[in-house]
Parts: sequence; C-alpha cells; structure tokens
Amino acid sequence: EAAALSKDEVWQLRKKHFCPAQSVSYANTDPLLIVRGQGSHLYDQEGNSYLDTRNNVCHVGHCHPKVAAAVAEQAATLNTNTRYLHPNLCLLAKRLTETFPAGSGLEVCFFVNSGSEANDLAVRLAFSRTSSRDIIVVDHGYHGHTQQTIEISPYKFDHRGGEGARPNIHKVPCPDTFRGPHRGPDAAEQYASAVAAACKTAGNVAAFFVESGMSVGGVILPPKGYLQAAYRAVRQAGGVCVADEVQVGFGRFGDYFWAFEEQGVVPDIVTMGKPFGNGMPLAAVVTTKEVSDAFHNGLEYFNTFGGNPVCCAAGLAVLDVLRREGLQDNAAKVGKYVCEQIRQLSTKHELIGDVRGRGLFVGIEFVRNRDTLEPATAETSEICSRMKSEHSVLMSIDGPHDNVLVIKPPMCFSIADTDCMVQAMDQILSTLVGPTPGVQVTHTPT
Ligand code: PMP
Repeated sequence: EAAALSKDEVWQLRKKHFCPAQSVSYANTDPLLIVRGQGSHLYDQEGNSYLDTRNNVCHVGHCHPKVAAAVAEQAATLNTNTRYLHPNLCLLAKRLTETFPAGSGLEVCFFVNSGSEANDLAVRLAFSRTSSRDIIVVDHGYHGHTQQTIEISPYKFDHRGGEGARPNIHKVPCPDTFRGPHRGPDAAEQYASAVAAACKTAGNVAAFFVESGMSVGGVILPPKGYLQAAYRAVRQAGGVCVADEVQVGFGRFGDYFWAFEEQGVVPDIVTMGKPFGNGMPLAAVVTTKEVSDAFHNGLEYFNTFGGNPVCCAAGLAVLDVLRREGLQDNAAKVGKYVCEQIRQLSTKHELIGDVRGRGLFVGIEFVRNRDTLEPATAETSEICSRMKSEHSVLMSIDGPHDNVLVIKPPMCFSIADTDCMVQAMDQILSTLVGPTPGVQVTHTPT
C-alpha cells in the first residue's frame, strides 16, 4: 500500500496528520520523497540519487548491509526489555566503554532511545550527585526536545516560541572565535572565565552541559584549553561536567573517537545518540561509578525500549563496521580534503568568510563582508536550495544567523563525493543571483 501512494498523496497525508511544527526539508520548494539509501546517497521514488552531506545519523553509511543484517537477525530471534540478561546489552557496554581513554572511569552505561533522553537522564544524574539545581549551558546549544532538555537548550528557550531561561539556568557565551566577543589568542581563557563567573553567580553548581563541537551553534570548535579551564571552574563549584557527544562522537572528529578528547578533558558524564545505532533508536549515557552510585538512591530506573537486543545489535555492528572499514581514519582524511577544497574556493568567492572543521564535521560560514562579518543569510539559503535543486546535493544550514552550511555526512563520504559537492558549490557561487523575496528554505537542523 505504501509503495502505491504518489508523492502528492504522501505530502497531503503528512499535512493532514502532522503538526506543522514538525518541519519538512525543502517544504517551500519541493519536498523530497526518499525511499532508499545506500552509502552516502539517498534515492527518491523515481530513482534519482542525492548526495547526502548532512546525515550524521546513518553514521557508517545509509542502510549498511552489516548493520541491517545484524538488526534483521536479532529482530527475528528476540526483542525484549532489559530485565533479562542478554549478551548484546552487556557486550555493547563493554565495547562502548573500551572506547574511552584508559583510566577515565567512564564505565557505567544507561542505554536509552534518543539524545534527548540521554541528556534528560544526565540532568537527573547531576541532580542526584550534587545538592544543586543550577546548570550552566552554552549559548546556542541544543540538547533535546523534552521539557527538561529544552530548559537547558538556549537554541530552544531563547528562540521564537521559547520561554527564556529559568532562574536555575546560567547561559555562557558560545566560544566562537570567528564572530564571538573573544577572537584572539586569549579567547579560550576569556570564554572559560565566563564559565567561572557563572559558577560564582550560581554558587553551587549541578552541571555544565557542553557540546564538544557546537552543531546547531554553527559548527563551533572551542579554542584549545577552553574545556580544561571551564571544567576546572565547574568542578571547583561542586558541579559535574557533561559532554554532549550526540553530534560529534563515534570518530566523527577523525583524530579522536570522542570529540572531548581533543581538548584533553575527561567528563563525568558523556551523552551520545544519533550515530550509535545507524538510524536505529539507540542512545546512551556513560558515567563514572561515583555518579552512578549517587543515582542509586532507591528510585528504580527502568526504560522499556532502552537497550533492547535489536538496538544493541545495531550498536555492536556500528562499532564493528567503524573499526573494520577504518571510517574514523576516512573522516580524518576526507575531512581534511573537504576543508582544503573549500578554502581553495574561498580564494575566488568572497562570500566564504570562514571554513572550520575537524574530521567530517565542517562548517562554511558565509558573510557579505569579511571585515564587518555581516551574515549572508539569504545567500546561504539560496546556495543550500540550489545545491539540491540543481545538483542533487543535500546540505543543511545552522548557526544563530542561519549562514553556516554544515557538512556532517555519513562517515563513508569519499574524496569523489567531496569533488562533486565542491564543484557544485563553485558553480552556484559563480552564478549567485542574490536574495529572492519570499523564497525560503526551511532550515531543519538534525
Ligand atoms: N544533543 C545534540 C547536540 C543534538 O544535536 C541533538 C539532536 N539534534 C540532541 C541532543 C537530541 O537528540 P535526539 O533528537 O535524538 O533526541
């Protein structure tokens, strides 16, 4: 029955049965009906292929056959909750915790179903570990869609429809060295001193939530030393440090399996999601014995779907494929090439204000003027829209000014994929027509 529906019928059903708050990419131009995925490509109902530069969920490649087979086999064998012993759950906990730096103490796992759930639970863990309710968050940060996680997400509470910061939430500036208030050699110290100041205001801190690379903030890579100094201040104030690795974990940074490693810190709590199950709902909180012991206060923790054998089979397969196919190294190699190629483009296209990236987490910030840094918001929208309509390349836009194109593709993204994306971007930048009134791309950060 599903295959018999036309694209228009699907679109009508979507409009009828879903709240428009659940936005659809390219809704104002021509939304996509995607029916198949493979590697770094997606295919529509007519068999047209699209290069996917934005999906960091299908981490080891869309519909990777090893992950699909592991899921199918486990689904045909057993799928139940975690109240029974099952090897998948425990093996996954072992393999996952082995990825953390030796001696980190990050050895206790909670498997959940989404990044939001992971961060929601991290808040509870922080509350039970400390006597405080005060949380420090980074401006433009996003940690999830539940009530609790919206309250710690400036990207939500400070945006249209948001209710502002609750009194227990302390916002610090995003450590953006391109357009933020601190851009010089002392930027790390200056941004970290804002965290220290927030600790002072709060008095007693429960937690500091920070993405190790800020995604919806516009691919912000904190300056070296920022997390070390910030963590020190938070711990002095009695708080725990939570690394949100939902976007950037699992080798995406190329040189590091976990993005926080680049900053030489060890968090008390790590949250992860998106890429973990290659599209299956699998996310996790990993913490220390100390934090876990404080949480074990009589109130039972049970999660019906979290850590079920099928999702764990996906997680095991993802870890396996990442290693066997050398995808972390691929991210390092291809990511470097992406940055080089875009930098090359920036020598002839003034609109490219900044290119920044680690591994396959790259941001291109467009500006109208390289001195004033006036954001080229409408132009970014046009580029993103035309990349899809003229070249079948899917991209996404992030950043507080909606002027950063984000490249965070499946980890099998290749040099050839990069060439295809860069050539398309070059052509568009050479023929940019400028803002078209009324035409807007829906920005749908993922
Ligand atoms: N943290 C970060 C950094 C995210 O980007 C997201 C999702 N965009 C989440 C948490 C929430 O994850 P989920 O959508 O799986 O609930």
